[in-house]
Amino acid sequence: MKDSAAIASGRLSPSEYQHNFDEVRPPLDRLQAAVDSSRCLFCYDAPCVEACPTGIDIPSFIRKISTGNLKGAAIDILSENIMGGMCARVCPTEILCEQSCVRKAGEGKPVRIGLLQRHATDWLLGNDIQSFQRAPATGKRVAVVGGGPAGLSCAHRLAMLGHSITVFEARPKLAGLNEYGIAAYKTPHQFAQREVDFILGIGGIDVSIGQALGRDITLERVRRDYDAVFLGIGLTGTKDLGVAGEDLSGVEDAVAYIERLRQAADLSKLPIGRSIVVIGGGNTAVDIAVQAKRLGAEDVTMAYRRGPDAMSATSHEQEFAQVNGVRIKYWSRPVRLTGSDRHVTAAEFEYTQLDSMGRLTGTGETFTLAADQVFKAIGQMLVPDPIVSGAQQVLEMQDGKIAVDGDRKSSLPNVWAGGDCITGVDLTVQAVQDGKVAAHAIDRYLRLT
Ligand SMILES: Cc1cc2nc3c(=O)[nH]c(=O)nc-3n(C[C@H](O)[C@H](O)[C@H](O)COP(=O)(O)OP(=O)(O)OC[C@H]3O[C@@H](n4cnc5c(N)ncnc54)[C@H](O)[C@@H]3O)c2cc1C
Ligand code: SF4
Repeated sequence: MKDSAAIASGRLSPSEYQHNFDEVRPPLDRLQAAVDSSRCLFCYDAPCVEACPTGIDIPSFIRKISTGNLKGAAIDILSENIMGGMCARVCPTEILCEQSCVRKAGEGKPVRIGLLQRHATDWLLGNDIQSFQRAPATGKRVAVVGGGPAGLSCAHRLAMLGHSITVFEARPKLAGLNEYGIAAYKTPHQFAQREVDFILGIGGIDVSIGQALGRDITLERVRRDYDAVFLGIGLTGTKDLGVAGEDLSGVEDAVAYIERLRQAADLSKLPIGRSIVVIGGGNTAVDIAVQAKRLGAEDVTMAYRRGPDAMSATSHEQEFAQVNGVRIKYWSRPVRLTGSDRHVTAAEFEYTQLDSMGRLTGTGETFTLAADQVFKAIGQMLVPDPIVSGAQQVLEMQDGKIAVDGDRKSSLPNVWAGGDCITGVDLTVQAVQDGKVAAHAIDRYLRLT
C-alpha cells in the first residue's frame, strides 16, 4: 500500500510558504534605477531593440528614466508592448534584449533592461494613469477568441485604432498563462489581473467570459457576425510520454498542476510528494520542478533526453533550478513508470546518446528513480477540435498549429491568429507581438472593406 503521507499538504510552516513564493526578483528602487540607466550607452541602431521581439525603443525609454521622466518611459514601452509590465517580469532577457547589450560584450554585465522596464511600467500602473486613447469609432467589429497575451494585445491595439472588440474567453479569468501558468514567484500580488484592468481601461473592448470556441460559439458564427476574427487560443493539449504506467495515479500533467497552484487561495492545502520526477526540458519542466521543491518536496529530479545545450530552458533557468535544489539528469529518456496499488512508485529511464548520424538513440543501460509523483512536461499542443468541428471551410495547419503568413493571416479570408497556437517561439513577448502585428493587418483589411 502506498504511504499516504508520501503525497501530503502542509509540509511547511506559513512563513516558509510566504518566503518560498515571494517575488524571486525584486524591483529596482529609484537609486538603483538611476545607476542602471546611467550605464546605457544609448547606442545608435541599438542591437537590444533588434533582439526584443516587440521592438521596444530601449535606449529611448532608458534615457527617459535617467532624466526622471517615468511616464514618458512607460509610454515608449507600452506603445510597442502593452504587456510591458508582465514581460519585464517573465522575459528570458538573458537570451533576448540583455543578451545583445553592448555592455555585456564589453564588461560581461548587461544593463538590466528588464528591471528598468519594470521600474517605468510599475510607476504608470501604480499611478493609475491611462496613457492610451481610442481613435474615432470606425463602426467595425472584431471577435478576439482567447483572452491571453496574444488576444489581449490584439484587442487593445484594435481598440486604439477605433474598432469595437469582443473577447471570447473560455476560462473564468482573462490573461491566459500569465494568470494560470507562469511561475507564482515571478508574478505575485495579482499582477496579471492588474495588467488586464489597465488594458481594458482603454474602452471599446467587451469581454464574454466562459465562452469557448467549439462549445458555446463556432468559428463559422463569429466569422459571420463580426467583420474579422483573431484566434489566440494557445495550446490546451498535453503531449503524452507514450510509456507503460502513464495512467497510474500520481502521474500528472505539469501545466494542470501549476494552474491549481496559481489559483490556490492557500498553498498549504496543496498536496505534493516527497520524491518528484519531472520529465521534460523546457520552461514548464523548470517551473514545476522548482515550485514542487518550494512546496516542500524533499527530492526533485528533472530528466531530459538530450544534453544541456538542447534544452529549451535557458542555461540561466537550468542554473536557477539547480540553485533551488533540483537535480537535472541529462541524456535520460523514460522507459516505463511502475507502481503499487495503482499509484506510481518509480520511473525507469534509459541513458541516451547521439549516434554517428546525430540521431538520438538509447544506450541500453537503465536506471530507476523512486517517485511518489511524476510530472509530464514534454510540451503542449494545439487541440484542433474548436477550430475544425462543424466548419465548412477548414483552416490550414502547419506542424500541428494554425498556418499564418507574416501578417498572422490564416488561410481563411477574415481570420488571423497569433501566440502559441501558431508556429514560432512560445514566449509571452512573442504572443504580444503577434497580437499587435495581426491588429495592424486587420485594421488595413477593415479600412478596405
Ligand atoms: C508553465 C509555463 C510557464 C511559462 N513561463 C514563461 C515565462 O516565464 N516567460 C515567458 O515569456 N513565457 C512563458 N511561458 C509561455 C507563455 O506563457 C506563452 O507563450 C503565452 O502565454 C502565449 O500566449 P497566448 O495568448 O498565445 O496563449 P495563452 O496564454 O495560453 O492564452 C490563450 C487563451 O485562450 C483561451 N482559450 C483556449 N481555448 C479556447 C477556446 N476554445 N475558446 C475560447 N478561449 C480559449 C485560454 O483559456 C487562454 O486564456 C510559459 C508557459 C507555460 C505553460
Ligand atoms: S519586452 Fe522583454 S525582450 Fe523586449 S525589451 Fe522588454 S524585457 Fe527585453
